[in-house]
Amino acid sequence: MCATNEEWFTRAERLFPGGVNSPARAYAAVGGTPPVFVRGEGAYVYDVEGKRYIDYLAAYGPLILGHAHPAIVSAISRAAAEGTVLGTTTTYEVEFAERLQSAIPSLERLRFTTSGTEGVMSAIRVARAFTGRTTIVKFSGCYHGHADPVLGDAGSGTATVGLSHVAGVPAETLRDVWSLPYNDPETLRTTMRKRGERVAAVLVEPVVGNFGIVPPEPEFLRTIHEEAARAGALVIYDEVITAFRFAYGAVQSLLGYTPDLTVLGKIIGGGVPIGAFGGRRDVLELLAPLGPTFQAGTFAGNPLAMRAGLALLDVLAKENPYGELERKAIRLAEGLTAAARRYRLPFTVNRFGGAFSTHFVDGPVRTYADARRADDRLFSRFFHGLRERGILIAPSKYEAWFTMVPHTWDDVEATLRAAEDVFAELAR
Ligand code: PLP
Repeated sequence: MCATNEEWFTRAERLFPGGVNSPARAYAAVGGTPPVFVRGEGAYVYDVEGKRYIDYLAAYGPLILGHAHPAIVSAISRAAAEGTVLGTTTTYEVEFAERLQSAIPSLERLRFTTSGTEGVMSAIRVARAFTGRTTIVKFSGCYHGHADPVLGDAGSGTATVGLSHVAGVPAETLRDVWSLPYNDPETLRTTMRKRGERVAAVLVEPVVGNFGIVPPEPEFLRTIHEEAARAGALVIYDEVITAFRFAYGAVQSLLGYTPDLTVLGKIIGGGVPIGAFGGRRDVLELLAPLGPTFQAGTFAGNPLAMRAGLALLDVLAKENPYGELERKAIRLAEGLTAAARRYRLPFTVNRFGGAFSTHFVDGPVRTYADARRADDRLFSRFFHGLRERGILIAPSKYEAWFTMVPHTWDDVEATLRAAEDVFAELAR
């Protein structure tokens, strides 16, 4: 009988490359062997040895109500009893799409997918079909899933495992994707003025979640919209992390801009696999069966995800937890910053709403280059120090911490006490 984390991970390594089903979960950047988990409840996850962790990983973003929230469990159980996939249009997908549309008015039409990756891939395809152009402008360090065109310069997903070039992605695919620095309106303007007539879409994480949490500077965001409009290109917001993370709806409503297309994922599925893309009706209606371009999915819009998503929206609408999530993130961000200062460590926290990132570098962190400069060794020791003390964050200096509804103020203070200990060790 296998009992320890080590033993389970060794078994996993005999099955999955690197022992994982997604490379972000490996400890490639921080060293050591990942614990192997068996369950989550509220704000906590438990490994196979029975150790409890306060969870700020939130499964890389999908969780906001914590693990196994009773309303979601009940919705999923009902869906399981009545059919998890029917292969037809269902009442649940109609209801869920209507709810999303009323929270995100730019979704004149939408399609569900089963991952954020598919949402991005389809949004790019439909944008290319609409404009008749091929080039996509994206930004260095933004991660948009693992479809070929977005795997150049792709932030957390690839950077954490040290890949600057992803083998197997044809060079000609990447030739049509220009990766420009985030928060650099000048480079964007110059590029768009010179060659904007080739650009189908500007694809952006409107608030970055993949080289830390990095909000857009106002001139940068304005330039995206102005230059795309001038060039006849579409703007695609990748809101896979941001939608329903900071407010009931998409972050576009907080930023004050309306993109042509939006990609959704993570949170909206209530913890069940999901993605979606939507936006302008004239663009979305290019999809088959109405138009000449194509996107599909056996499990797209399945009742399991739709009903979990509906239950999630019910709770978020009723409880409006966003103020409280932000207050906890502020306390954590301020407490961590003050403690790091006491130990004279180079340290910057970036925060937006209830999400923040910790960078072992003197700030500001406003570009991917800034985030890359953060000290890898200090981060690894910080990560392991927290892990030993029962605090779970992502094993990557590029990933965010997320506050979740079930985090208590005691959890927050316990986290700060653990971090204080770890900073003291780092300073020694
Ligand atoms: N877009 C963003 C901003 C993401 O952070 C991610 C995943 O981390 C994706 C797209 C891809 O989503 P998925 O992992 O569901 O394919």
